[in-house]
Amino acid sequence: MTTRPTIGVLALQGDVREHVNALAHCGAEAVLVRRESELDKIDGLVLPGGESTAISKLLQAFELLEPLRARLRDGLPAFGSCAGMILLASEVLDTRADAQHLSGIDMTVRRNAFGRQVDSFETDVDFTGLDSPVRAVFIRAPWVERVGDGVEVLATVPTGPAEGRIVAARQGDVIATSFHPEVTGDLRVHDLFVNAVRNRV
Ligand code: GLN
Repeated sequence: MTTRPTIGVLALQGDVREHVNALAHCGAEAVLVRRESELDKIDGLVLPGGESTAISKLLQAFELLEPLRARLRDGLPAFGSCAGMILLASEVLDTRADAQHLSGIDMTVRRNAFGRQVDSFETDVDFTGLDSPVRAVFIRAPWVERVGDGVEVLATVPTGPAEGRIVAARQGDVIATSFHPEVTGDLRVHDLFVNAVRNRV
């Protein structure tokens, strides 16, 4: 077991710095990933929040799309928040026709699902494996409309018009959240991911 796994943060666009800081606090060696060769050096990868269609375009421009799909197929642990969740999906609704995704988790995700009226909001959600709720910050967030067999639902919206909507899911060591644990200072979701990577290495 490596106590200090090397975890990449996909650094094409989005809130890269916040994830780097969170990972470092959790005891990982956090490195930026922008090119294919950097994929060989990591034990896990974080896909940050940002704009999924922009990241999708940049994945193609940086020739990372196919290499990353291949690493995920080979079992690379990954954690995506918000736009990162969208990129990890196997099917995306309400996106651009040419947007690409990585199929790290067998799930259908709807972009900007909470609608314009509720651009951004925060709430506490119960999260499987954590003993008290996490503060979930949603910013033009997606939700999950379908999960395949073998996908574990980790969190749903507790109340309100979106009650019951899936906002965190996990398949093997690939984890996705609709919300942004990297902005709250509560590092438990990152910790969970770093520990999953540790147990794999
Ligand atoms: N709405 C953005 C997208 O579609 C995601 C927003 C976010 O990551 N905060 O990619």
